[in-house]
Amino acid sequence: MTAIRRTKIVATLGPASTPPDVLERMIVAGVDVVRLNFSHGDVNAFIPLAERILSTADKVGRTVAILADLQGPKIRIGRFRQDKVFLEVGQDFTLDASLDSQSGDEHQVGIDYPQLVKDVGAGDTLLLDDGRVVLGVEDVVGNEVRCKVKIGGYLSNNKGINRLGGGLSAAALTDKDKNDIQIAAKIQADYVAVSFPRSAEDLNYARRLLRDAGGDGGIVAKLERAEALEVMDEIILSCDAVMVARGDLGVEIGDAALPPIQKKIISRARQLNTAVITATQMMESMIENAIPTRAEVFDVANAVLDGTDAVMLSGETAVGNNPIKVIEAVDRISLQAEQQREIRRSRHRIDSEFEKVDEAIAMGAMYLANHLDVKAIAALTLSGSTATWMSRISSGIPIFALTPNDKTSRKMTLYRGVYPVKFAVEERGHATLNNAVIALLERNGVVEIGDTVILTKGNARLEGSTNTLKIVRVGDVD
Ligand code: PEP
Repeated sequence: MTAIRRTKIVATLGPASTPPDVLERMIVAGVDVVRLNFSHGDVNAFIPLAERILSTADKVGRTVAILADLQGPKIRIGRFRQDKVFLEVGQDFTLDASLDSQSGDEHQVGIDYPQLVKDVGAGDTLLLDDGRVVLGVEDVVGNEVRCKVKIGGYLSNNKGINRLGGGLSAAALTDKDKNDIQIAAKIQADYVAVSFPRSAEDLNYARRLLRDAGGDGGIVAKLERAEALEVMDEIILSCDAVMVARGDLGVEIGDAALPPIQKKIISRARQLNTAVITATQMMESMIENAIPTRAEVFDVANAVLDGTDAVMLSGETAVGNNPIKVIEAVDRISLQAEQQREIRRSRHRIDSEFEKVDEAIAMGAMYLANHLDVKAIAALTLSGSTATWMSRISSGIPIFALTPNDKTSRKMTLYRGVYPVKFAVEERGHATLNNAVIALLERNGVVEIGDTVILTKGNARLEGSTNTLKIVRVGDVD
């Protein structure tokens, strides 16, 4: 069996990737999750697009999940009369909450968040356009935040504002986000990402709104505020996946602080049984170029070595010149990084107690898989929990998650090393069931006569019922 990539690819859709032939080629090239970015465009257009994503995935025989990424309270400047201005270092520049949102010039611009004048004070540093332009706050007078330009350059319409060190008070879910949750429920998004959450409560609230709207997707917490890092465990425990949102986070905590934080978030997410996505500027130069820089190759490989479940592409696939080539590049870099021996064995949870039988079976399977010559793991699962636990353990062994449930399949496709396989549940005796599973793996070219497979299962109609682990040699009569 040739190696199958374990690390998953999340690709943001945009003008570069929505033409039908491009979307199909991207999925064939290896996209596992598509991200619909609710910060851009007409959100109603996501309804037919979601249908097209699922039917295209079906057509080419791949499982693809949909991630609806809410805009959140990104604070932005207004527009300039001339669309952009050039700011010189040392000049005065004012953010004015009472200025008409269309009337900015080289001295002042409007802001879409009047509360900013209460949240900032003299001495603060404001980072505009992801830190490309930096302003020092000199004074706050009425509705005006009066600044001096510390790092100058071009500043164009609607660029984001962050405060160095974080601490802007905007609530995580805006009115637009609440409306967009309705759309996410309508398209049955498999995941909904909450931008700028500050606490578990923000995530629980988003989940409640999604459930009330009839959606059953998982919640993704985008870690992008400095203060969210102080309650990292609480946030990780309250969501289904976390995203290392390196764009905004890097602006708030400083770029140099990002590498150790990325490692910490990934490792904590794995320890706390939550999936993790590493995002932003992973292959940025491929927006223009056909090959990545060496630094980008190392960045993707290092995220894989850190243990991320998925690598995310943003502008690279949304607006870039090379939406297919970038997926091929992430595919080959991940595959090779995954071959490194040191990431294939795990000491994770070696000393801990298990609370549930199904969790213990999942952990037992991974311990065996890492200490026996095993070709594959076949986990029968309804909810996907067994696959989640298994995928938290480093290993080079593929985990085939067999489920009758399409939604569970799409959810599990985010998890590292997990490959969802459709498997109908029927009343059958143990031997018939075991043989059917092995026959399925054989048909898919995953195992052959003489290979060892670990099979886990329980009551096929009951969630959380996994209680059996069996070691099967392909070809032996059960
Ligand atoms: C980020 O800031 O890194 C991020 C993923 O968020 P967005 O792309 O939505 O700004």
